[in-house]
Amino acid sequence: MARVPVAEGIFTGLDADPQLIGSRCTECGIVTFPAQDSCPRCASTAMAEHLLPRRGRLWAWTTQDFPPPTPPYTGPTGRDFVPFGVGFVELADEVKVETRLTSADPAALAVGMEMELVLVPFRTDDDGNQVVTFAFRPVTSGASA
Ligand SMILES: [Zn+2]
Repeated sequence: MARVPVAEGIFTGLDADPQLIGSRCTECGIVTFPAQDSCPRCASTAMAEHLLPRRGRLWAWTTQDFPPPTPPYTGPTGRDFVPFGVGFVELADEVKVETRLTSADPAALAVGMEMELVLVPFRTDDDGNQVVTFAFRPVTSGASA
């Protein structure tokens, strides 16, 4: 089964060490995700591709207990739907990214904890490919390091 990204231009590294693709304003330095063609702060169009750090800190989160509206949501619905966590992860004081979380367990999530980018199965497309999207998971310290 081939793995394909849920959308182009969102992340790199399908096989290992994925990174989110953001943009950075070469005039004022602001970083955005997803990448934008013009700067939301100074309106410059001198935006350069900027790969975001793979780790950050959980800034806020909640759980998605029912399928989001379709469209734009294209994932499982009905009995196939599995609740998931959603939140904002702050990456290197540069940008807060709205993201799916690998856990929807309140006991496993805490504001300020270190999070790491991973790619997770999202759905299977009509050609039998596994469509993957990005998510952040808690970084577990110790033991298996
Ligand atoms: Zn700018």
